[in-house]
Amino acid sequence: MAQAGFATREQVDFVVVGSGAAGGIMAREHATAGFSVVILEQGPYLHPGDFPHDEWFYTQNEELVWGSRKGHPQTFRRHESEKAEVVDGAPLGYAHNVGGSSVHFFGNFWRLHPIDFNEASVRGTIAGTNFADWPIS
Ligand SMILES: Cc1cc2nc3c(=O)[nH]c(=O)nc-3n(C[C@H](O)[C@H](O)[C@H](O)COP(=O)(O)OP(=O)(O)OC[C@H]3O[C@@H](n4cnc5c(N)ncnc54)[C@H](O)[C@@H]3O)c2cc1C
Repeated sequence: MAQAGFATREQVDFVVVGSGAAGGIMAREHATAGFSVVILEQGPYLHPGDFPHDEWFYTQNEELVWGSRKGHPQTFRRHESEKAEVVDGAPLGYAHNVGGSSVHFFGNFWRLHPIDFNEASVRGTIAGTNFADWPIS
C-alpha cells in the first residue's frame, strides 16, 4: 500500500498512536476507507540487519523491547480507578519501533479451537464486518 505524507500543520482525519498490530491495522483500515491517517510511533524504523540471530540478545538483554532492565518497568492495573503498579517478572517487554512487537515476536502461534473455524455460523455474522467462517474445518 502506498504511504501518504503530510505536512506538519496539515489537518488529517485520524491520528493513530503506535504502529503495532492494533494501531497498524486501524490505520490501514481507515486509510483504505479513504480517510487521511497519520501514525505516531515513538521508536525507530528497524531494518533486517538490526535483528541478529541471538536469543540472548532479545530475551536476556531486551535489546529490542522496553522492560525493567531498559529502565521502563511494566505497570498493570485491573481497572481505571486503580493505580498501575510495577509487576515483577512481567512476561514480556514492549516493542518500541515501527511495526511494534509484531516485528520481532517469537513465532508462537496458538492452537485454534474448533469453533474458531465456523464461529460466524455458530454465533452469527457482524454487520459492517467481513467476519466469516474459514473455508476449512
Ligand atoms: C519479544 C516478543 C515476542 C513475542 N512473541 C509472540 C509470539 O510468538 N506469539 C504471539 O502470539 N505473540 C507474541 N508476542 C506478543 C505480540 O507481539 C503482541 O501481543 C502484539 O504485537 C501486541 O500488539 P499491540 O498493537 O497491542 O502492541 P505493540 O505491537 O507493542 O505496538 C505498540 C506500539 O505503540 C508504540 N507506542 C506506545 N506508546 C507510544 C507513544 N506514547 N507514542 C508513540 N508510539 C507509542 C510502541 O513503540 C509500539 O510500536 C511477543 C511480544 C514480544 C515483545
